[in-house]
Amino acid sequence: MDLYEYQGKELFRRFGIPVSEGRLALTPDEARLAAEGLAGPVVVKAQVLTGGRGKAGGVKLAEGAKDAEEKARAILGLDINGHVVHKLWIERASEIAKEYYLSITFDRGVKRPLFMLTKQGGVDIEEVAATSPDALARLHVDALEGYQPYQGRRLVYAAGIDDPDEQKQILQIVGRLYGAFVGCDAMLCEINPLIVTPDGEVKALDSKFTVDDNALYKHPDIAAMRDTAAADPLETFAREKGVTYVKLDGNVGILGNGAGLAMSTVDVVAHVGGRPANFCDLGGGGSAQGVVDALEVITRDTQVRAIFFNIFGGITRCDEVARGILQALDEMDMSSYPLVVRLDGTNAEEGRRLLAEAARPNVHPEATMLDGARRAVELAG
Ligand code: GDP
Ligand code: MN
Repeated sequence: MDLYEYQGKELFRRFGIPVSEGRLALTPDEARLAAEGLAGPVVVKAQVLTGGRGKAGGVKLAEGAKDAEEKARAILGLDINGHVVHKLWIERASEIAKEYYLSITFDRGVKRPLFMLTKQGGVDIEEVAATSPDALARLHVDALEGYQPYQGRRLVYAAGIDDPDEQKQILQIVGRLYGAFVGCDAMLCEINPLIVTPDGEVKALDSKFTVDDNALYKHPDIAAMRDTAAADPLETFAREKGVTYVKLDGNVGILGNGAGLAMSTVDVVAHVGGRPANFCDLGGGGSAQGVVDALEVITRDTQVRAIFFNIFGGITRCDEVARGILQALDEMDMSSYPLVVRLDGTNAEEGRRLLAEAARPNVHPEATMLDGARRAVELAG
């Protein structure tokens, strides 16, 4: 789950990382009031779950309250990389002497958290990595041993930060960022830019914060930060139903049991010339109710013309899936959807028998994954 800048900064604050004071505003009026409260120059910042807001005109300095209201009017409703701005963060403006970059994420290759620090902040980090890789200091942390301050010192020196006062502050921020990363079960904590003010104060001017969805049950306060209005309504609906679902843009609805099989099914459908409408994993077990829920999600996508059930029974019993399909056909009007069903593995015979006995006109059994994919693509038209 990606957090908005203001939410990430709230977490930074909790972990002792310096940030500027700010307020949330949903309207130009609220922006004016927020700026009045902060007094003095402010920066009006679009809150959208994408980067590059500055370049897109989503970050503007304002002299005072009246100016903040005008800047807010200009930014609200703006489309930034496909994200429409509905929220603003009004922050006390900072003076900037230097812009650095600091992040921690997972390096999956070596299975360790990785810090990156460079004095060339503010710009795209990919650009720094490509044009001056030596300027980008890296530090892997052993997750069991934990972060050690001597490692942080090495990182700070490697980045070429030579002012002792900056070194001290950045070292502290690095340690606290590790605390935030582990403490929130984050997958990414990025500060770009990490600024140094003309007075030599170091603070986080931006935040990119991603928390592992699988750990959200441990962090109800972070889970509550989710903005359901901004999320894809179908994916939100799926989440509420407990269905693992990713929307794609084709017309063949796909339902597999297990993420690997569901992904292969997406591939095979594409391979035979079709366009998958979604990825949907029924999971292990595959109860009748689970099938009903998944079908409800898949059929909410108005582009879907045919649905391909690809089930390999291991823990999932094919008879249970067949019952689920039949139950779904009783509960929902599925008559406009051809359902191609391939059942194999545990209790496949029984499952196929149940479907054959029910003899629904829109259920098309196929023996193999490839045949099923071909049939579904053909029926989707
Ligand atoms: P991003 O473009 O989405 O990464 O948004 P940022 O929050 O990083 O802001 C983009 C740029 O706006 C920063 O790199 C700064 O140069 C500038 N900026 C943001 N906040 C302030 C501020 O308080 N004062 C000044 N002078 N510039 C700011
Ligand atoms: Mn930024």
